[in-house]
Amino acid sequence: MAAKKRVEGGKKKVAKTAQVKKPVTKKTTRAVAGTDPKRVAAILAGLDAAYPDATCELNYSNAFQLLIATILSAQCTDVRVNQVTSELFKKYTKPEDFAYASPAELEKAIRPTGFFRNKTKSIMGASKGLIEQFRGEVPRTMDEILTLPGVARKTGNVVLGTAYGIASGVVVDTHVIRLSQRLDLTRNDEPKKIEQDLMKIIPENKWIKFSHQLIWHGRRVCAARKPKCAECNLESLCYSKDKTV
Ligand code: SF4
Repeated sequence: MAAKKRVEGGKKKVAKTAQVKKPVTKKTTRAVAGTDPKRVAAILAGLDAAYPDATCELNYSNAFQLLIATILSAQCTDVRVNQVTSELFKKYTKPEDFAYASPAELEKAIRPTGFFRNKTKSIMGASKGLIEQFRGEVPRTMDEILTLPGVARKTGNVVLGTAYGIASGVVVDTHVIRLSQRLDLTRNDEPKKIEQDLMKIIPENKWIKFSHQLIWHGRRVCAARKPKCAECNLESLCYSKDKTV
C-alpha cells in the first residue's frame, strides 16, 4: 500500500522578511483632456461667433411668468410652451390666480405641454410657496428658489440667469448634457455633476450666455441624431464619436 503522503495543499512556507513596505503611489486625478483652458476658450469663442445673441426662447414678461413657462417646458418644446402661455398668461396673471385655480381647469389649459397633472401640481405649489414665503415675488437666490415645490436647479438657473441676470450656475438640460459630453467638457452623466464640471471650466461671467449658446447649438446644429457636423464651426475642436464628418 502506497503511503498516502501529500504535500499540504502545496502551501509554501514564506520566510518572514523584514517588513517590506509597498511603494507609496500618488493618487492621480484624471484630467479631462478636453478641458485644457485654451481649448475651452476656443469653444467659447466659436459659440460667441455663431450665437452672439443667444438667449432663452421662452416668451415671458416677468420673472414669475418665466418660472411658470420653465416648469411647463419640461419634456416639451419652447414653441409649444409659447403657444400655450400666450393664452394662459391672459387668464392667469399673478401667483394668486395659479395658486387658487381650479386644478381641472389649469390641467386643461396646459394639457398640450404634456405631463399636465404633475405640472399643474408644481405650478400651484410654486405659486403658493411664492405667496406664503416671498410675498408673491420670485426670490433672487438659488437656495430660496429651490424651496419652491417642483423647482429644481435647472429651473432656478433659467429664472435667475434670464430674468434677473444672476449667474447662479449653468443650466443643464438635455442639449447641454449631450453637447458638453460630445465636446469633452465633462465625463459625467448626472446633471448636478455636469453643472459642477462646467462651473469649474467656464468663467462665471459666461455661465448664463454659455447655457443658451449650447442649447441653441444643440437645437440648430448638434442634434441628438445626425448632428450637422459639416456646418459646425466647432468641428475642428470636436473629436466626438458621434461626429458625422
Ligand atoms: S462637430 Fe458635430 S458632434 Fe461635434 S459639436 Fe459640432 S455638430 Fe456636434
